[in-house]
Amino acid sequence: MNRKSFLKVGALTGVATAMLGRTAAQSATKLSGPVVVSTWDAGLRANKGAWEVLGAGGNALDAVEKGVMVTENEINCCVGLGANPDRDGFVTLDACIMDHRFNCGSVAFLERIKHPIAVARRVMEKTPHVMLVGDGAQQFAVSEGFPLEPRELSPDAKKAYKKWLENSKYEPQINRENIENKGHGPFAPAQIDGEWNHDTIGMVGIDANGHLAGSCTTSGMGFKMRGRLGDSPIIGAGLYVDGEVGACTATGQGEDVIRVAGSHSVVEMMRQGFGPEMACQKVIERIVKIKGDDVKKIQVAFIAINKNGVVGAFAIHKGFSYALKTNTSEVLVKAKSWFN
Ligand code: ASP
Repeated sequence: MNRKSFLKVGALTGVATAMLGRTAAQSATKLSGPVVVSTWDAGLRANKGAWEVLGAGGNALDAVEKGVMVTENEINCCVGLGANPDRDGFVTLDACIMDHRFNCGSVAFLERIKHPIAVARRVMEKTPHVMLVGDGAQQFAVSEGFPLEPRELSPDAKKAYKKWLENSKYEPQINRENIENKGHGPFAPAQIDGEWNHDTIGMVGIDANGHLAGSCTTSGMGFKMRGRLGDSPIIGAGLYVDGEVGACTATGQGEDVIRVAGSHSVVEMMRQGFGPEMACQKVIERIVKIKGDDVKKIQVAFIAINKNGVVGAFAIHKGFSYALKTNTSEVLVKAKSWFN
């Protein structure tokens, strides 16, 4: 249920393990060929899924959809039907996808559907809309042939929910009690051994033709208020792609990503000439300034890629890693952060 057990579920590749701890600066060089980058350790496995497409000369849009479906299939705290429920005990999922031509699709507050990212893509390709939510999104998914899964919590989620019910404390920010839980605590924002953790999977990539795309999928904040949406399904907040400039995705306290139109702001910084890492840092600085002292209670991280395949990231607190895959390397990179 926490990020440590998450690591146990899927084996890290030898290459990635060996290179764990590589600094962000080392990866900030121009890359040739396809590139895919995704949030957290689970990104290593998701990138492999994306690479089945990119490595075979496929396009970035297919790659970022297939990639995050790997994580939606895994049992973890924060993505897919095995994730932690809302405070009423129901798993609700959010996802969005975007290509290099401003085509985008999103689903939010979606229940009982295994692959929200694939539904988001159908919204993009088969409806005149960008976003479907709740029952409507579910009806659309079913009409598109997605099976309705049983409304059942995974054993891990059941356990975590039972523990949360002991206090049922609703405070959607990190506090000491959350830290003492040594896991995701009552909410997704949590620290493990002093490091901040969230596990939404956001992925951005570029294919051999230089086309960018991105995807983002999550169950949102664990034990959230029913109906709560974070940044992840919101185009411009959890994800943004501009085919002429670059792409960005976010993880962390969604409310604070929405406030600054996070991913869109990062892309706009790249448009102004900042490299991906500095673009991410600039928007993190904006959040730090807005939050004042409360910034100690939240984690936000961005990963970005520009049109040349250069990758960068930045977080508020240490502990955020992103997975990067190219023709020649497969690494987990520790991002730089505002607080160290
Ligand atoms: N950004 C997600 C949300 O606020 C949570 C996360 O990344 O852990 O819903």
